[in-house]
Amino acid sequence: MKTHVKALVVGGGAVGTSIAYHLARAGWEDVMLLERDELTSGSTWHAAGLLPLFNMGFATSHIHDYSVKFYKSLQEETGLNAGFSVVGNLRMAQTDARMDEYMLYASTAETVGIPFEWLTPAEIRERWPLVRTEDLKGAIYHPTDGYINPADVTMAMAKGARQRGVLIERKWQVDGYEWTGSEWRVTCTRMQERGGNLVPSDEQVVVTAEHVVTATGNHAQRTARLLGIKIPAIPVEHQYIVTEPDPALVDWRKTNPEHPVLRDADAKWYVREERGGWILGPYERNAPARFLYDVPESFRADLFPLDLEGIEEEYMAMIHRIPTSETVGLKDDFNGPICYTPDGNPLVGPAPGLRNMWLAEGFSFGITAAGGTGHYLAQMMVEGEAEIDMAALDPKRYGAWMTTEYAARKNEECYEHVFILHHPDEEREACRPLRTAPAYDRQKALGAQFGQVNGWERPNYYGPVGAPEGFDHDTRSFRRGGWWQHAMAEAEAIRQAAGLIDATAFTKHLVRGPGATAFLDGFTCNKLPRVGRINLTYALTCHGTVRTEYTIVRLAEHAYYLVSAGAWTAYDADFLRKSAEDFMGAGGAYLDIHDVTTQWGVFAIAGPKSRDVLKEIVRDREPETVLGNKRFPWLSMREIELGMCPVRAIRVAYTGELGWELHHPIEMQAYLWDRLMEAGAKHGLKPVGARAQNWLRQEKSYRAFGTELGRDATPLEAGLDRFVDLDKDFHGKERMLATGIRSKCVTVLIDGPADADPWGREALLHDGQKIGRLTSGGYSVAFGKQIGMGYVRPDLAEVGTKLKVRMFRELWDAEVVEDSPYDPANAVIRADG
Ligand SMILES: Cc1cc2nc3c(=O)[nH]c(=O)nc-3n(C[C@H](O)[C@H](O)[C@H](O)COP(=O)(O)OP(=O)(O)OC[C@H]3O[C@@H](n4cnc5c(N)ncnc54)[C@H](O)[C@@H]3O)c2cc1C
Repeated sequence: MKTHVKALVVGGGAVGTSIAYHLARAGWEDVMLLERDELTSGSTWHAAGLLPLFNMGFATSHIHDYSVKFYKSLQEETGLNAGFSVVGNLRMAQTDARMDEYMLYASTAETVGIPFEWLTPAEIRERWPLVRTEDLKGAIYHPTDGYINPADVTMAMAKGARQRGVLIERKWQVDGYEWTGSEWRVTCTRMQERGGNLVPSDEQVVVTAEHVVTATGNHAQRTARLLGIKIPAIPVEHQYIVTEPDPALVDWRKTNPEHPVLRDADAKWYVREERGGWILGPYERNAPARFLYDVPESFRADLFPLDLEGIEEEYMAMIHRIPTSETVGLKDDFNGPICYTPDGNPLVGPAPGLRNMWLAEGFSFGITAAGGTGHYLAQMMVEGEAEIDMAALDPKRYGAWMTTEYAARKNEECYEHVFILHHPDEEREACRPLRTAPAYDRQKALGAQFGQVNGWERPNYYGPVGAPEGFDHDTRSFRRGGWWQHAMAEAEAIRQAAGLIDATAFTKHLVRGPGATAFLDGFTCNKLPRVGRINLTYALTCHGTVRTEYTIVRLAEHAYYLVSAGAWTAYDADFLRKSAEDFMGAGGAYLDIHDVTTQWGVFAIAGPKSRDVLKEIVRDREPETVLGNKRFPWLSMREIELGMCPVRAIRVAYTGELGWELHHPIEMQAYLWDRLMEAGAKHGLKPVGARAQNWLRQEKSYRAFGTELGRDATPLEAGLDRFVDLDKDFHGKERMLATGIRSKCVTVLIDGPADADPWGREALLHDGQKIGRLTSGGYSVAFGKQIGMGYVRPDLAEVGTKLKVRMFRELWDAEVVEDSPYDPANAVIRADG
């Protein structure tokens, strides 16, 4: 046992072991791993070991892809066989919608470089005659994945880690963390066996560590308590059963290779071979969350009782698909805790509010994800950033509003949704509505169909008034859903008259004090605005890529109002606060930061008639001129009064029309909504949702955070040169310049299929080669065709370059167009009146 290390990894499951291995491989010499029991004694020991490459997310696809390749290389390095059976993975589709889902998924696979094949029912039958296929539409097949022995692969990683100098200590439990300002003091207790239980002894050691990583699996709630933070990782029961040998399978296998892992998504199960029999893993309804606060001391490498009734439907569905399995008996069952998070992605990255504390918690596919997580987390810790954007996994994507009940209910929902159709326009129902702004009921009465952003209810579109419950759910599609025509009408309203968008979820911070100007000047890459003006600007990572996009409003010489993406409040707040602390710690003058997100509501009014609407209710000595260009130019801010509501109005419009963001005291929101809707009636004002706005902003080539903007591209690669002031020094500048242009953000117009638009995941091709990918997509009302934004090889970023985009397995013509194809001169935004 060492008492001082560079990095301490807590937890010896697949994930912690991989992190320790990769930290050592990345060059850190002094790494120790502590495990309270035995390696793999958490969820790892009873995992089925499947390594599904199929994944709808870009970052997680990279992570899984890395794991599969890494595990194949482990035997050579360690001499240990990790038991990797590369049998392939067959995902069957019973419906056309499921095939559509696979085709959309294949877009992600293609952009990441994961191999796949398409099979017809006849081809499936021909290769695997035990599988019933007459009710199938087809399948997608991954030849390179399969399954692995979870304990063996963990032991191989542990051996590799030890060979690289990692110290692994078992039977030590971490019981306390204290940050001294430069390192962690970690209290560790020797664990001992007593009556079959594992209990703390009196022996304690304090280990100091520069960095700590927690990978504590089902113990995440205890870890959260010890650290004083929230971690929405709570396990759910997950079971699989093993059958006796199936004589038909045994017979068939005499002359044939093993079946691929079979997945009948519409029946909610996976099946693989196990010693002549079958393993059935269902994702059934109503599996309960467990260990909401603690794992009991008596629960070690234990299991819950089998709940056969709960999985009857899936069991029957397996018999339907593999008829020979009907007569074979059950041999074994495993019902264990499987950790989940509300969106199913693990929580990997810096812990909220803490220094040098890294989380790797909430893994539901932890065997699949362990390798890649270790690789990319080690990059973040050692080099400051990973080569892929890890934001989708960041632990701070849930804010302080998140509670135990929310996490438990959402995690149960997430488990149940593993095999449902993952429409890209999917909105899940559990725990809603939760965070609502005062205009919510009014919007609902107008037909609003809401999405959830960081817990907030935000209108996606306004459907038919009085639409039946489930309207949105029932009309979802991988092509154009029931919302499409409503979004069309809303987009047209903004281009032709006026629209009112609820943007209350925006993240808002006040940054004030004598140090505010100097701090923000170094923190962001654009010039700071003058008092009363606004600027679009970016805070960069230490690698010069985009960490946060801000609209900065300068309220006074040393007071600023920062607006950033609504989905990322805690993520943005954490970086802002830590950067400000660093600034002050280095001798900078004092500044304070307030998160005022929930104090201010935001409506965006946009469209050629928006000024006329506002004029109806604006109160001013000279109401005729207060909104004109002279007194209220584009990219400026004014405190105005709309009826009796004081409004901080900012003249910007994300839709590219004349418009204002109306930031208002949240308690006056209902009042303001009513006044605007009344005033707008005669000008054709329409309430508008996020979907139409997303289309319109692409016509202006406005990049969105989380799609075009993230930690894998610099602002120069994103084509935002005009917002980067190279004459000043700012965080990340040198790395940004040194990185050069690896790929370039472009806008494309697409002659696509008649019934579908791109979703922003599709591959872009040139001369038959993949040369980039879309990051956004949609329909352009201005051009009457599909539109998208994405990244391409720099030499193919020229306006007029002809590309192809793959949608639904076919190639469609696309052309790179100039930035801001709609109103490139910004004439309508600047319109006077
Ligand atoms: C039935 C079932 C089947 C599954 N099948 C698959 C599958 O096919 N493929 C797949 O990818 N995933 C599968 N999973 C999920 C997989 O098991 C988990 O995602 C994975 O094991 C998580 O690994 P981990 O290292 O995060 O957690 P764990 O394996 O639980 O490891 C956490 C470790 O941390 C230790 N620890 C906790 N607190 C402390 C502390 N304070 N001090 C020291 N040590 C501590 C624990 O003792 C434990 O050993 C399955 C899960 C179940 C239940």
